[in-house]
Amino acid sequence: MHISPAIVTASGEADNLATPSPWLNRFASLGPAFFTELAPQGMPAPTWLAQSAACAEQLGWPQDWWQREDWQSLQVFSGNTLWPGMQPMATVYSGHQFGVWAGQLGDGRAHLLGEVATPQGPMEIQLKGAGLTPYSRMGDGRAVLRSSIREFLCSEAMAGLGIPTTRALALTASRLPVRRESLETAAIVTRVAPSFIRFGHFEHFAHSDQHAELRRLADFFIQLHAPECQEAESPYAALLEKIAKQTARLMADWQAVGFCHGVMNTDNMSMLGLTLDYGPFGFMDGFDPGHVCNHSDHQGRYAFARQPNMAFWNLHALAQAFMPLMPGAPEAAGETLLQALEPYKTEFAEGLLSRMRAKLGLQMQQQDDRSLIDDWLKLMASSRADYTQSFRRLSALTPSEDPAQLRDLFIDREALGAWLQRYQARLQAENSRDAERAARMRAVNPAVVLRNHLAEVAIRQARAGDFSETERLLKVLQHPFDEPERPSDAALPPDWAQTLEVSCSS
Ligand code: AMP
Ligand code: MG
Repeated sequence: MHISPAIVTASGEADNLATPSPWLNRFASLGPAFFTELAPQGMPAPTWLAQSAACAEQLGWPQDWWQREDWQSLQVFSGNTLWPGMQPMATVYSGHQFGVWAGQLGDGRAHLLGEVATPQGPMEIQLKGAGLTPYSRMGDGRAVLRSSIREFLCSEAMAGLGIPTTRALALTASRLPVRRESLETAAIVTRVAPSFIRFGHFEHFAHSDQHAELRRLADFFIQLHAPECQEAESPYAALLEKIAKQTARLMADWQAVGFCHGVMNTDNMSMLGLTLDYGPFGFMDGFDPGHVCNHSDHQGRYAFARQPNMAFWNLHALAQAFMPLMPGAPEAAGETLLQALEPYKTEFAEGLLSRMRAKLGLQMQQQDDRSLIDDWLKLMASSRADYTQSFRRLSALTPSEDPAQLRDLFIDREALGAWLQRYQARLQAENSRDAERAARMRAVNPAVVLRNHLAEVAIRQARAGDFSETERLLKVLQHPFDEPERPSDAALPPDWAQTLEVSCSS
């Protein structure tokens, strides 16, 4: 595989370089039933809003990729032109939305530009918000500045936290008006992932009785992303089991860090177990297991504590879509697929338990750990204690010092004191050393997460034409376990943020 090397002349100036290549565009080999080829619709007079150097580095692109005049990067990543080798298209998928079959959806505002070779393996590059596609339905194919900043920052924040996610390479903006509840302006996020294939892609071909295409998609996915399944007795059941386990691990990651996705419809579920489609998401401030971050989710279907169950529900929808792939009688096939989902339960439970042990700085495994953890979470919930800060401040605990900072987060101080005694006893049982434990805990409990109010400040400034806060926040979020230079980045939400509502229109 050839990757364009960065050639730097003696004077330090880069020569005219070929744009990144080669483009593999393997999704296109699936055939026209899977997509519509079409060029993105650009934005007039685009400007750069931000780039992620970390994402570009992963792609193996030179640091100044976005500034190279000969690359026309600004025009490419605002949908106005294409690099040689790109093969833009919108893909078709369907899905269950809020538990109900929604029929055909598809990339209504996403253009897959193609798949490029990188040192990390082939990566798909996608523009979100570059205009109408055949799957736009009632939408305008656009994304507004506000939601694009949120998606850009959160993608890179998740990567910084070590949580599987689609990446965000760049953010471009324009004065192009876009109507939502009020008049806003357009932006485009460039997203990067090994694959953007969703549960909904499989559901689409199963529900429309296109079984040959369904099989082609499954075989394609196995070949590219799960080759080990080819050896299994039932490759499709093995694939389902793999997806179930990786989804379980993603849910354990989300629950451990206090992330609420908000719209866990099957069309937003990645076949690679990546966090995908950032909309009205939120990181927990005060801990409320019933927290619903999407104001349109009136039933609370995707409430924080329900996320693991909802992912399991989505996996059942995926299993249903796999049925036409299975040989033999439907009863036996159904049973095989259900069995393939079974490991989800232990993978999630054990995954969360081990993450929680680490968050509490525990190295040994003991019988009572589960109740110690559950009681800590109950204590936090009953005080609506700040999720991120509770763990972070717990790391500083020592037997000799008064835990005033931690105590400030709790209402029932007596209950906190009783729990802390149990915790101290548990630490002693494994001869835990405070300084080492604190360092371990700080390495897994972030100081900074993308709280809504932090994103809001960046959005307000960007609307006024100042993008520096978005850039600054990006850098902070890429190192979430470091104590930030500005204490306010890690602090609890200010009073003005209490009334902040995140619109689900994007
Ligand atoms: P979401 O709720 O963002 O996951 O979107 C669900 C479906 O609606 C997907 O097919 C999207 O492509 C589509 N969609 C959302 N917003 C727009 C828009 N402004 N224009 C076109 N399609 C959209
Ligand atoms: Mg979506």
